[in-house]
Amino acid sequence: MEIEEVKELADRCLSCAAKPCKSGCPLSNDITGFIKYIKNNEYRKAYELLLDTTVLQPICGRICPHKKQCEGSCIRGIKGESVSIGKLEAFIGDMAIKEGWKINTIKEKNNKKIAVVRRRTCWNNCK
Ligand code: SF4
Repeated sequence: MEIEEVKELADRCLSCAAKPCKSGCPLSNDITGFIKYIKNNEYRKAYELLLDTTVLQPICGRICPHKKQCEGSCIRGIKGESVSIGKLEAFIGDMAIKEGWKINTIKEKNNKKIAVVRRRTCWNNCK
């Protein structure tokens, strides 16, 4: 995705005070905040903000059912199309991989280990 398209998508965000998109996210990602950083061309800060609530940011951007969660709660979606939060998140994740930005872990934050458990079926009922 070209930067111009990313900016266009980000500019559709109204920075709602109530943050319904955040409430729709199971991880409570600061969606308004990371989109604001994208608007200001501060991509690394957008990535770091997302890392506050997820250690798998580049993956979440790809596999989360955004239409059912954050995008499904977006105010813009009431009268039209919701903000493309998933595309913006995926863009930041791709940039993080390309630039080699560090993926921090929960262990680094609280000195505890975690396990990742794979569900047998995905939210979209794929096989
Ligand atoms: S609900 Fe939609 S428009 Fe409002 S802050 Fe969240 S992403 Fe932006």
